[in-house]
Amino acid sequence: AHLDRIDAVDGAVHAFLHVAGEHALETAADVDRRRAAGESLHELAGVPIAIKDVLVTKGMPSTAGSRILEGWLPPYDATPVTRIREAGLIPLGKTNMDEFAMGSSTEHSAYGPTHNPWDLDRIPGGSGGGSAAAVAAFEAPLALGSDTGGSIRQPAHVTGTVGVKPTYGAVSRYGSIALASSLDQIGPVTRTVLDAALLHDIIGGHDPKDSTSIPGTWPSMADAVRRADVAGLRIGVIRELDGEGFQAGVLARFHEALALLEKNGAEIVEVSAPHFEYAVAAYYLIMPAEASSNLAKFDSVRFGLRVNPEGGGTVEQVMAATREAGFGPETKRRIILGTYALSAGYYDAYYGSAQKVRTLVQRDFDAAFAGVDVLASPTAPTTAFRLGEKLDDPLAMYLNDIATIPANLAGVPGISVPAGLADEDGLPVGIQFLAPAREDARLYGVGGALE
Ligand code: GLN
Repeated sequence: AHLDRIDAVDGAVHAFLHVAGEHALETAADVDRRRAAGESLHELAGVPIAIKDVLVTKGMPSTAGSRILEGWLPPYDATPVTRIREAGLIPLGKTNMDEFAMGSSTEHSAYGPTHNPWDLDRIPGGSGGGSAAAVAAFEAPLALGSDTGGSIRQPAHVTGTVGVKPTYGAVSRYGSIALASSLDQIGPVTRTVLDAALLHDIIGGHDPKDSTSIPGTWPSMADAVRRADVAGLRIGVIRELDGEGFQAGVLARFHEALALLEKNGAEIVEVSAPHFEYAVAAYYLIMPAEASSNLAKFDSVRFGLRVNPEGGGTVEQVMAATREAGFGPETKRRIILGTYALSAGYYDAYYGSAQKVRTLVQRDFDAAFAGVDVLASPTAPTTAFRLGEKLDDPLAMYLNDIATIPANLAGVPGISVPAGLADEDGLPVGIQFLAPAREDARLYGVGGALE
């Protein structure tokens, strides 16, 4: 049924870069066999799932939205993919994304943009617009995304879906094509909070293949949803993300959701996070710095594309020609920015300063969480903007991440839950909750209370 749905709507939505139809049917038959053989399977066994193209999948195209990886077939599965296979979920294919997860609109994909199923002239968010659009358009009931500065939560916000960025280290990054290693996290994109929790329980937990993976066990996220109760919970509204620069309809739905939580026994207080206003600036130095280093491996030798200059050339010339042809404009912009920020003469002024701001943002979280259980804000300042609207204005595109970036800088978990439709345009709005590191279950509890 999902393959039929993809056939019917993906021509217009373009959520998928690769549909693995035959593979999905074979996997489904295999799950039936495992079940018939008496294997006790996960309750989601047999449920299809879409996978963001940033995660490598054995023998299945994995481009991260870039030309430079066109035609590359990975020899292994990323750990979250291994875990969904073991649980008996059925990978449907790979979803579209901004090249190397750089963007907030999926317009930086080398393979053309994804369209928001709510309004095909609008962006589905980014960088994981493909995963969110696939779930919103009923092409897949579940999807995996990656969130470096908001790429799971902001697409969820603009498509009326649920998106979770787990605590840094809660889900293995093994096999996730790295954008910024100190910020990236893999997480669920779904239509309900319970679905997200069930998926989180499958993909999460320690993985010895990722040195930043947190050891030890975690409580069940699904249980947290099933027990959802906000009585006595202290929710801090972040003053700096509740006014100027935010669309009226976004703020209206945000306050309505808070009022509902208050009615159910939560206590709403205002808190201040004075350094959040510098988070976007710090992020757009740290992220390109790490990305420029991570992307150095695309050198025309190890993976994918190789462009030979006419009449041959030296190794350096082949490398330059390949990177010139294989990387899109946003990727090049960030490589240049990041290399500059890391260069000897400017390291302290840019990268060093950004790291200090990162610490100040972390301290804002520490101070806030001393007095509240969770923090709340709108997930993004506006509903889905029009395709093309911010494409030529990188700063406007970057500012869209103002509410999501602080969580990545601090490594804390965040969830975006649908909060209704904005009055002025009828488009979806998300409310974001943030919790202290390792308190992911608390977020699922609050999110579950809104369903
Ligand atoms: N929009 C942010 C960026 O462009 C976040 C991307 C992400 O989370 N992968 O970097």
